[in-house]
Amino acid sequence: SKAFKQDPTIITLKNGVQIGGDEFVVMSGPCSVESREQLEIIAKAVKESGSRILRGGVFKPRTSPYAFQGLGIEGLKMMREVADELGMAIVTELMGTEHIDAFVKYADIIQIGARNMQNFDLLKAVGKTKTPILLKRGLSNTIEEWLMSAEYIMASGNEQVILCERGIRTFEKYTRNTLDISAVLAVRELSHLPVIVDPSHAAGKWEMIEDLSLASLAVRADGIIVEVHHEPEKALSDGAQSLKPKKFEQMMERLEKLSTVL
Ligand code: PEP
Ligand code: MN
Repeated sequence: SKAFKQDPTIITLKNGVQIGGDEFVVMSGPCSVESREQLEIIAKAVKESGSRILRGGVFKPRTSPYAFQGLGIEGLKMMREVADELGMAIVTELMGTEHIDAFVKYADIIQIGARNMQNFDLLKAVGKTKTPILLKRGLSNTIEEWLMSAEYIMASGNEQVILCERGIRTFEKYTRNTLDISAVLAVRELSHLPVIVDPSHAAGKWEMIEDLSLASLAVRADGIIVEVHHEPEKALSDGAQSLKPKKFEQMMERLEKLSTVL
């Protein structure tokens, strides 16, 4: 907490991108890595629009065991290759400790998903690595619980933690979750760690992503993580909340414009 460390934590990735510094960082890509062709099309498009961190799930925490579960380690290697061709970094979710060595080898940022925010053994394990960790807020967790989970990672030796607000469960059903935009302000007050927003999993609707991204910049989040798909209607997961590349480009232009007046 800020009681122990006043200076903001700035995380520098191997491709030079800094999180927690002056730049508003946009991580983007498909919900799930589905094939090499799909990943290449999306990665090239988002890179073209200025994104330098590629997101994509290869181990997917799906509600139904019959839904697409991800390409696994093969998908992780695929992400690495596609990202290297484009000079991008990658962020991808680790669900269990059994794959931690492969994630340390291939990923630039290890994502801990909302459903694992309080998987304390997993937090301790990633805390023993030197890889930056993206810690999503749990579906029904308080800000204090979220920060204590970050503390688990840091207490194990890894201080490179990025917090991610991705919407919480409320009584409201119109959106998939309720984006707690004020959580960004709370974290800025309470913690030295960078904090980003995931408008995609918060809203669950692509129509809201651009404006929620602008709102994230307005509250001075350190960045966003956004789902993009070139054929959302055919996506194997989260198509309804995925932006098409053209919309993503438009969003990036509006973010750029807003950043000049803030
Ligand atoms: C994701 O980023 O693909 C994901 C599953 O997110 P969350 O853990 O926030 O639901
Ligand atoms: Mn998703």
